[in-house]
Amino acid sequence: MPQVVDLTKALIAAESVTPARGQVFDVLAQALSVIGFEIDRFIVGEEPDGPVENMIALRPGAGPHLAFAGHLDVVPPGEGWTSGAFEPEVRGELLHGRGAVDMKGAIAAFAAAAARVEGPTLSLLITGDEEGPAIYGTRAIIDRLAERGLNPNLCVVGEPTSDQRLGDTIKIGRRGSVNIWIDVPGKQGHVAYPQLADNPIPKLVAALAAIDGLVLDTGNDWFQPSNIEVTDVTVGNQATNVIPAKASARLSIRFNDEQRGEDLVELIERTVALHAPDAQVIARISGEAFLTEPGPLSALVGGAIQAVVGITPALSTTGGTSDARFLSQLCPTVEFGLVNATMHKTDEAVAVADLEMLVDIYAEVIGRAASF
Ligand SMILES: [Zn+2]
Repeated sequence: MPQVVDLTKALIAAESVTPARGQVFDVLAQALSVIGFEIDRFIVGEEPDGPVENMIALRPGAGPHLAFAGHLDVVPPGEGWTSGAFEPEVRGELLHGRGAVDMKGAIAAFAAAAARVEGPTLSLLITGDEEGPAIYGTRAIIDRLAERGLNPNLCVVGEPTSDQRLGDTIKIGRRGSVNIWIDVPGKQGHVAYPQLADNPIPKLVAALAAIDGLVLDTGNDWFQPSNIEVTDVTVGNQATNVIPAKASARLSIRFNDEQRGEDLVELIERTVALHAPDAQVIARISGEAFLTEPGPLSALVGGAIQAVVGITPALSTTGGTSDARFLSQLCPTVEFGLVNATMHKTDEAVAVADLEMLVDIYAEVIGRAASF
């Protein structure tokens, strides 16, 4: 079993933009099999969102089943890296490379912790599609767990949740997200003859004004208020003397655990229909909100962090969606990982010292999970 820095480097070097499969999974499977994990790799889905590779690595032990969840896919590197995005390099105190913090470093840290600590039943649930549409990723892993009769008792997702320093933030929930497209049809015509045309713009504007006036909720102890943002308005009319045939808008709603995606879509449909009865509304719910109320699991992870770095983490529900939205349906789930400052950016980098401390924290989590 390689050291955490070497394993992180090997994972970064195996280029794995979403959807990931193949070599990067070979590297991890190799490292885990030498420390007693049985490896179950499976490929699901078709073009364009797949095929996606997923892996369940399982090491039976005594007591509860602790699952560690993560993803080996990364976002595209973009331009302007100081060294190659897939050529990991330690410069000064930092290890650079795409995926260093999101989240190959955390996966390597958990593997290194598992090499150090025997204990409860451990699994690593690793997908190659978290950054993408996530259709063939963690959902497929959950199906596979069910087929195999495996039921984790607690789950830690290794997303980069730390803010200023390692250990300062655990995520116990995330808001849900839905994107909505609104198309209002009209009838094209000459502006000099409006009686022969039907302008869709006033209808769309009225609908958007009504939507902008909606108050969904006022938030609660763990979440900020749910929020609707109008993110685009398009007419695309080049002419000064033409009434356009169509006007479109796009909305993005981030919502807390007081809302359900489907209900929000219905609310928008009703509101639009009042002002633009012929409008077409298309919605894509990318995830429901989830919350693991503060309790034994957040206390366990918080205690492990306290023991290693001496700080008490904040319990947060901010940020975008993550695969914890699926896993939290199985068992109590929290997210804890590296400092997120450089995630998805050029020159993504992790402090080598943080990687080593994260191994210590995950080892504490594994040890404490035995008595969960
Ligand atoms: Zn991630």
